Amino acid sequence: MHPAIPLLLELQKTDNEIASLRANLDTAPKRIREADAKLSGARAAVVSAKDALAQIVAVRKKTEFEVTEWRERAKKFRAQTAAVKTNEAYKALLHEIANAEMEIAKAEDTQLEQMMAAEEAEKNVKTTEAALRESEQTIAAERKEIENRAREVNRKLLADISVRDRIAAQVPEKILDVYSRAAKRHHGVALAAAVNEQCRGCGMRLLPHVYQVVYKPENLELQTCETCGCILYPSEPATPPSSGANPSAASA
Ligand SMILES: [Zn+2]
Repeated sequence: MHPAIPLLLELQKTDNEIASLRANLDTAPKRIREADAKLSGARAAVVSAKDALAQIVAVRKKTEFEVTEWRERAKKFRAQTAAVKTNEAYKALLHEIANAEMEIAKAEDTQLEQMMAAEEAEKNVKTTEAALRESEQTIAAERKEIENRAREVNRKLLADISVRDRIAAQVPEKILDVYSRAAKRHHGVALAAAVNEQCRGCGMRLLPHVYQVVYKPENLELQTCETCGCILYPSEPATPPSSGANPSAASA
């Protein structure tokens, strides 16, 4: 095994951790946006409940006005009855009065319905307002938790980065370069175990001499997979190259 392998494995482990911490941190703003979106739903519910109430208040006013108008008309017709001269005119007035009273009764029925609708709408405003207050509290708590967790993740990330720097400082620059290039190509994965003469990174068969060098105790030459470019390391438990007794090697 190449002497840099244990350090590179450490480096890989730390880099994996850093990547997963970064991915976790990246989700925080989205989670905060999602929480805020829930709040905007509750806000919209209050607005539409208030709109509905305002509409009912407006139609109630209109009906109220109609009732007053019909009452005044009926009053006027009644006053006229004392002054009529003919029987027909009297009958016509009675007919007008009956009609006005019918309209008043109709409008009063409408008023009753509208009153109940207004009560319902008022209740709805109160309910949506209470739901909004509750949402605000829940979401404020959620936000705080997301922010606290993000701070915690950030602390870990900074610690890992300094660990990474310490490890990287011990790796010869040339090797670090090979590592970085391989990692760039494979979403951060720079190392691959060599098992049964195969690269575990890409699954391709390794040249027998490459495989042997990977397992050589005094190996000073870093081996990379010809196909994927990953740095090869001996797997644990070690499967040292057999002298032809390896079944997979024999079948190849
Ligand atoms: Zn490979």
